[in-house]
Amino acid sequence: MKPETRNSKPAVRIGYGFDSHEFRPGIPLKIGGITLAHEKGLGGHSDGDVLLHAITDALLGAIAAPDIGALFPPSDPRWKGADSVIFLREALKRVQDAGYGLANVDASLILAAPKIGPHAAAIRTRVAELLGLHSDCVGLKAKTPEGLNLENAAIAHVVVLLEKAKAGKKRAVRKKSGR
Ligand SMILES: [Zn+2]
Repeated sequence: MKPETRNSKPAVRIGYGFDSHEFRPGIPLKIGGITLAHEKGLGGHSDGDVLLHAITDALLGAIAAPDIGALFPPSDPRWKGADSVIFLREALKRVQDAGYGLANVDASLILAAPKIGPHAAAIRTRVAELLGLHSDCVGLKAKTPEGLNLENAAIAHVVVLLEKAKAGKKRAVRKKSGR
């Protein structure tokens, strides 16, 4: 019997990303590519931008590429304190090279403080700009970690939807040179 031939280029692909970081005093808090005023920031790999890391992993996962930790190992001193926008841009490039474009992103942030509500519009605008999307295509919900006993951590869950790029539209996402 002949093995079944499966379609490796479906019209749409879904991606899911998860990340968490611990709050540490005395470092800047970066979420979604912007700096929020807070007495603690997120420690660990690079600048600790939990939201950009989860989006990066969702993009990579959607095309079954190696994940953020494989592409940018925390053990590599090059990525110590690095701007997470670098990781996001690499993931986006891989999505485009695979022949896909991003349709929308939906994210949930889970953290006790600071309140995300007052910053949500700025985060959505920045993430949309980084991804070449309209901000209406970037969903962002913030929750407090009720019953999770995780007062000193920030968590992000992200899903993305990719659609097959139309012929000749592969490079259509505008390239932003600014930070
Ligand atoms: Zn991370």
